[in-house]
Amino acid sequence: MAKLQNVRGTYDLYGDAKRKMKKVVATGSSVVEKYGFEEIETPIFEFTEVFSRNLGDTSDIVTKEMYCFQDRGGESLTLRPEGTAGVVRSFISEGMQQNLPVKLYYAGPMFRYERPQKGRQRQFTQFGVELLGVETPQADIEVISMAYEFVETLGLAGNVVVEINSLGDAESRDAYREKLVAYLREHYDELSEDSKNRLEKNPLRVLDSKEECDKAVVAGAPLYKDSLNETSAAFFASVLKGLDNLGIKYRVNNRLVRGLDYYSHTVFELVTDKLGAQGTVLAGGRYDGLVEQMGGGKVAGIGWACGVERLSMLLDEDVSLPRPIAVIPVGEDVNEEAVKIAYQLRRAGFRVEQGYSGNLKKRMIKANKANAVKAVIIGSEELAQKVVTVKDLDSGEQKTVALDKIVEELN
Ligand code: ATP
Ligand code: MG
Repeated sequence: MAKLQNVRGTYDLYGDAKRKMKKVVATGSSVVEKYGFEEIETPIFEFTEVFSRNLGDTSDIVTKEMYCFQDRGGESLTLRPEGTAGVVRSFISEGMQQNLPVKLYYAGPMFRYERPQKGRQRQFTQFGVELLGVETPQADIEVISMAYEFVETLGLAGNVVVEINSLGDAESRDAYREKLVAYLREHYDELSEDSKNRLEKNPLRVLDSKEECDKAVVAGAPLYKDSLNETSAAFFASVLKGLDNLGIKYRVNNRLVRGLDYYSHTVFELVTDKLGAQGTVLAGGRYDGLVEQMGGGKVAGIGWACGVERLSMLLDEDVSLPRPIAVIPVGEDVNEEAVKIAYQLRRAGFRVEQGYSGNLKKRMIKANKANAVKAVIIGSEELAQKVVTVKDLDSGEQKTVALDKIVEELN
């Protein structure tokens, strides 16, 4: 058998890296809960069509990134590549339309068969939100401000820029598509094979291409804003005004489109220049047609998702745990008392390491390795007098402390 190893593009998470991920998710949860969002956990796999029918059959995800498999009952299932489709599936199958608006957030692993590189994995973690049932720009302003507060709370506001664009309503999209196709036909020979194919099936997707030759053509393409009808332009203007009112800085990026079919009106990304090519840390938009397309009636929606790994890579704060206290018995006859003291200290809120075995010297070495701040040393003679020795491991200073005063001393 080949050497045991993890699958390409997957990682074992532990230590600082895991703590940073936890911090990002915990910060996200506490911020969005203030806005009234509640956590939902949907299954990690769904019927394949939940994704294949709704993300767009020319999207990168559906054409080449999904992990599909047949289970033993012959069903085609897919490991979720993103969160929105599953949440909307649940919204419909649980009958949540009865009580709008619905505000949900989720955190968990997503799976995409991509070329692994820094910030791009095959299993990665997203934290995301979905707000269903609000058609007005108020919803757009709320979810974008929430994304901003989230990165600000992580201390990353200075590292990211909010980019925003509007794709308009269906009428605006059709008008734009026509102009875009006319333009792309003039440059047909310069396009990549993929984009030649997209031109027929889904020309908007060409705007999102990562191929250099396509990017050159796209640079001269007509701009979305010139195709927005009056309603769509007014909608976009009120979203921007709302952000201005809150003092949230943004950059209108007329080239911003999103890779999935279900978006309309507002699309946005939080982008950093600190992660190389994988600079988008959070992305989202309005998906007013999705619920209906999935069979759930006319319900507006808007949401975003962030890459938890990408955000954690930006965090440079110290996430280490508080330094522990070492409890060190000297001699077998005081072991039981040492265990009792360790238990008492833990219940008082301290992190406590017990050396488990070895003489005083060995246990002191272990205590230093564990970066303990203080050692509580227990000997049988001392115990007879109901005292222990508390040693400061940085200064070396030590003092005798009464058994019932240890917590007080350590505080
Ligand atoms: P990209 O353009 O980088 O491929 P995307 O448009 O495919 O991103 P979304 O589907 O919008 O990404 O997902 C939202 C966020 O999830 C991204 O902005 C990114 O931070 C993160 N993300 C997406 N794919 C990956 C991946 N393979 N590995 C790590 N994080 C990812
Ligand atoms: Mg992608």
